Amino acid sequence: MALKRMRASKKDGDTKSSSNLRKRASKRANTAKDEPVEMVEVQENSIARFLDEPIPESEAKTLWPDRYKPIEKPKAPSRKKKDDVEEIIQARCHFRRAIVDECHTYELNDDAYVQAGEGNNPFICKIVEMFEGANGKLYFTAQWFYRAADTVIGKLNVLISNKRVFFSEVRDTNELGTLVKKLEILMISLNENTEETIAATKTCDYYCDMNYLLPYSTFEALQHDTKIALSESSTISSDIVSEDEEASQATGAQREATLLDLYCGCGAMSTGLCMGAQLAGLNLATKWAVDMNAHACKSLEHNHPETQVRNLSAEDFLLLLKEWEKLCIHFSLRKCPNSEEHNNLYGMTIVEDNEDGSKESDNEDDGEVFTVEKIVGISFGDPKMIKKRGLYLKVRWLGYEPLHDTWEPIEGLSNCREKIKEFVEHGYESCILPLPGGVDVVCGGPPCQGISGHNRHRNEEQPLEDEKNMQLLVYMNIVEFLKPKYVLMENVVDMLKFAKGYLARYAVGRLVQMNYQSRMGMMAAGAYGLAQFRMRFFLWGALSSEMLPQFPLPTHDVVMRGVIPVEFERNTVAYDEGHTVKLADKLLLKDVISDLPAVANSELRDEMRYDKDPETPFQQFIRLRKDEVLGSLTKSKSKKHVLYDHHPLKLNIDDYQRVCRVPKRKGANFRDFPGLIVGPDNVVHIDESVERVKLESGNPLVPEYAVNFVRGTSSKPFGRLWWDETVPTVVTRAEPHNQVIIHPQQDRVLSIRENARLQGFPDYYKLFGPTKQKYTQVGNAVAVPVAKALGYALGIAFRGLTVGDDPLLTLPEGFATLKPNLPSELA
Ligand code: SAH
Repeated sequence: MALKRMRASKKDGDTKSSSNLRKRASKRANTAKDEPVEMVEVQENSIARFLDEPIPESEAKTLWPDRYKPIEKPKAPSRKKKDDVEEIIQARCHFRRAIVDECHTYELNDDAYVQAGEGNNPFICKIVEMFEGANGKLYFTAQWFYRAADTVIGKLNVLISNKRVFFSEVRDTNELGTLVKKLEILMISLNENTEETIAATKTCDYYCDMNYLLPYSTFEALQHDTKIALSESSTISSDIVSEDEEASQATGAQREATLLDLYCGCGAMSTGLCMGAQLAGLNLATKWAVDMNAHACKSLEHNHPETQVRNLSAEDFLLLLKEWEKLCIHFSLRKCPNSEEHNNLYGMTIVEDNEDGSKESDNEDDGEVFTVEKIVGISFGDPKMIKKRGLYLKVRWLGYEPLHDTWEPIEGLSNCREKIKEFVEHGYESCILPLPGGVDVVCGGPPCQGISGHNRHRNEEQPLEDEKNMQLLVYMNIVEFLKPKYVLMENVVDMLKFAKGYLARYAVGRLVQMNYQSRMGMMAAGAYGLAQFRMRFFLWGALSSEMLPQFPLPTHDVVMRGVIPVEFERNTVAYDEGHTVKLADKLLLKDVISDLPAVANSELRDEMRYDKDPETPFQQFIRLRKDEVLGSLTKSKSKKHVLYDHHPLKLNIDDYQRVCRVPKRKGANFRDFPGLIVGPDNVVHIDESVERVKLESGNPLVPEYAVNFVRGTSSKPFGRLWWDETVPTVVTRAEPHNQVIIHPQQDRVLSIRENARLQGFPDYYKLFGPTKQKYTQVGNAVAVPVAKALGYALGIAFRGLTVGDDPLLTLPEGFATLKPNLPSELA
């Protein structure tokens, strides 16, 4: 079944807010959604009338044609429910001015408060139409402004100023008498922080710098509308293409952009993003990556030799960035963004020190004098492991090999100003660390273990106070500091479920607070050509100067697994129900792994030869060499074509013997072991009437945990996968105790490489660390094809080529196996 988005669902991320909004509206709410609406009580004594002559009929009919069409009587009884039929109130004539209660006059396009019922804040609208109905009643059409609390951000109101409102596309018709008061709403460009604007925002009633569009909970800069209008006339409009872009199109050159991968793991997300961006004509390079796991860093380093990988916690990374900026300012490489000067930093003063080089850099230890030859590294934390946190520099000692380099606190090196200066100058030139404004894209998924369903101590009231969710703050603080052009955050769908989506709402709120445009969606990895479902949450952010990226529509059919959070169902990136699109066939396990050599439970080799040719287009693509997949993005010309990491987690003897006894057929699992009874309620029990079968070790063949898993209802323990199946989600562990992970025909769990294939890693991607660490890196990853599809959308937006205001983008034909430098729509 293809992944479909329910049309006009009663629920989505905005339900609460938008239904609030719509509650004031008339029953004839002409809105995008069909939640229940309530009629607003019109104050009995409110007198409303139109002023001046009506708008000439011909003009009114051109502007509002539907109001003047005769109502068509349905010929056959409609199958639609009565509520679904959109009734259009017919007009006698339209007006430009009105007066309510003989004191408040309103003109077309005025902004106003509208009654919201007792005890509620009035609603805020722009009056976009005023007319007398054929029924003699007087109406106006409101186009609503949303307060932050009415958007997906909800009541995290500390983030957004009460004066800031968001213009929506939602319109509906109300009785004229519900208008309460005229308002002054200042429409300004996003991020416009001139003194005049700031002063004006203080005196107006409200100000508005973004549209809020319900599809994919999108916040988009107002000015974007004009850009879109320009682009509508041509497929790829040159009007909106910058001069740079024109130049690069003329020369056929690719645009360049830098990427920082936070919580990078082994780097799947950035790998995919760069691949996809390249297919859209953007040369995106992972310049920096950060992760606190040393093995993951090693994997990333190996596969991306051009990336500056930092094995640090994200919080220390942010502190390092701040210190690095200070150093750059101190050495006059960078202007001071605020008045804070850094003349005297770590005891280094700007006074030129012409001292003798050797003397300035001496360091005494046990009476022996060491001389600093040069500085070769910088870090924040406690790299010397002396229980003292701070900024450290790595010192190469004169006359010593790199092996003897040591980390030294910067304070102790204040007499080495010249050496530090050389290091900082060189580091600044080669961009060893990103500086504010110097990063194009930040990607990454801050781990939020505090939301995991397994965590019994979840803090539902104040999720951000749970230290396990702290990384979301750190992530947003890094964005705030670096101000990248684009942000792409990934997370588990639980982020939308836990505490009514508090953390996801917070993430959007922070982006909007920092004047980012933003858009959120859920994507199923399988829909981009994998034998895995894997639903994940993605959030785009884009500065006001940039185009907000779209979400790439699925290319493949997929087997649906798991549940989608109902409230955010409409944020699922999928074709609408009823839309007929030819998707590629869903991928099955066989398509993905049938060409791999047979290996045993005891297999230990990290490298081996392929023993078969690829059997499917997927296998052909996944086996391409790095230079074939990345084209100009890599300099490496790989000669040998070997298979990495095709070995399984080695099971202990008991588990191995259990696995050997699971029949080699579809659906087999521990329930096929002797000595079990399955009740009518599908609950499995140990058959007490027969003797328990024992393994050679004396332990029972059927372990207790298998029988007790999900109170005896599960068939997952020791489950064997079959060739025509898919997996719900590749996880970080490979034990067969509570998941279906046994190979269809071999007595072992899926190998690291097989899991990596399910995640769409190219075969050339080699992993580092102990076996369990490699599984973790693979299971943690953002599936490469999803990241690739998102990278394509990013490339299109980055180049200013987004067409129309559709939040979704259709990928080029055959995208899943598209290679760069091959004929593609854009080549
Ligand atoms: N995006 C990656 C997967 C990341 S998984 C990919 O697509 O391959 C999350 C990573 O966050 C893990 O590798 C973990 O080591 C790292 N991590 C967890 N807490 C961290 C912290 N405080 N600072 C930096 N990295 C952290």
